Amino acid sequence: MRIFDPHIHMTSRTTDDYEAMYAAGVRAVVEPSFWLGQPRTSPASFFDYFDSLLGWEPFRAAQYGITHHCTLALNPKEANDPRCTPVLDELPRYLIKDSVVAVGEIGYDGMTPAEDHALAAQLQLAADHGLPALVHTPHRDKLAGLHRTLDVVRESHLPPERVLLDHLNETTVKAARDSGCWLGFSLYPDTKMDEDRMVALVKEHGPERILINSAADWGRSDPLKTRRAADALLAAGFSADDVDRIVWRNPVAFYGLSGRLDLAAPATPPSLHEGNSILRGGE
Ligand SMILES: [Zn+2]
Repeated sequence: MRIFDPHIHMTSRTTDDYEAMYAAGVRAVVEPSFWLGQPRTSPASFFDYFDSLLGWEPFRAAQYGITHHCTLALNPKEANDPRCTPVLDELPRYLIKDSVVAVGEIGYDGMTPAEDHALAAQLQLAADHGLPALVHTPHRDKLAGLHRTLDVVRESHLPPERVLLDHLNETTVKAARDSGCWLGFSLYPDTKMDEDRMVALVKEHGPERILINSAADWGRSDPLKTRRAADALLAAGFSADDVDRIVWRNPVAFYGLSGRLDLAAPATPPSLHEGNSILRGGE
């Protein structure tokens, strides 16, 4: 089984996770830039993080046979901090990089005016750079948040078929589906979606435009959720072709809209990145 995790924060994960993911069939990941838990105090802190998503993390993934792309943006939560908003002005010089396959994650956290501005500005950046957008839907007031998100998408120059709405669930799937956007589901160990609910959703809505991700990060999460969902779908009677569509071909089609997706894993991964290896000493 080949698996593409379209939303996972590998910066927060260990090499054990990379090993286990490869063994489970994961061959490609997209890492969206996001909130690190600890508030950042200056744009420079974002730029070092972006460089890490463009350099060090793909290097680390390559050691384990996994191709790594990223999405870059000012995240919804820190869009409220005036110390961080100058990042919006500098994003264009990052969005031209080869391994950036979308603008994201953008969207709403607390649904504030500052978030309205950052969302609209970054949808425009996506349109200007020929990139799709990964849009996080809020964890509270989900349906109201989705409607407000869709209003901003409709007012933007980015067509819905270039937008992936993430963190959907039973309450938001129908409106999201009717909008023409791609549909992302994050599977967590004990909150939000799980494998059984995912199976029920695919039974009701079919595999079209559906993507499943682990969204694994620094919180309680499981980088093998994509595989567990795939196994649950097979056990529920879905064909291998349906499952391949959800866990491989749909993410390839969505991020392929960037024209930048390169899924050929290097035969021999580079041993050094800027003089550093994952081996720490001189081994
Ligand atoms: Zn995320």
